Amino acid sequence: MGSKTTVRPLSRYLKDFKHTQVNCSHCGKVLDRMALVFRGKIINKAAISGMDQLISQEEWQNLQQDLTGLCRFCSDIYCNSQPAYFDILSFKQYLFKETEMNHSTVREYVVRLRRLDDMLSANGFPADKLKGYSWHECLEEQLPDAGHNNYRIALRKYDQFLGWQRN
Ligand SMILES: [Zn+2]
Repeated sequence: MGSKTTVRPLSRYLKDFKHTQVNCSHCGKVLDRMALVFRGKIINKAAISGMDQLISQEEWQNLQQDLTGLCRFCSDIYCNSQPAYFDILSFKQYLFKETEMNHSTVREYVVRLRRLDDMLSANGFPADKLKGYSWHECLEEQLPDAGHNNYRIALRKYDQFLGWQRN
């Protein structure tokens, strides 16, 4: 760590970076296990160890701007799924930042919307039918009987998010 070192292996920088991350950069949760995400992709431990190219402090500063440390929950949503209808990542951030909801409740809502998103995709639901301020109304007819109420509650929350987003 002195000013004497001008270049170091990239893996070294990454490992140090991991240690400096205390909170998830999306939801703010304290990280127990964290995912290191570079330009939308998770870099795992093995990949980090293999990154032995020597880079300078300056190069590192640039690279670092594309790096984030996420909790497992956020990295899951951010990196592994492309929801077709809902903007789940922004919705989740909204719940964390604008409501008093705790982590497990947020998780519940997100899981429901992801499930609904999957169902709509599987049925080939046309995305252009989702418009206006109430997706709850647009989707009322599409909701499965099982867990109907839970989906409705999650959709109402999503409507609040849509309204908030437009203000
Ligand atoms: Zn998180």
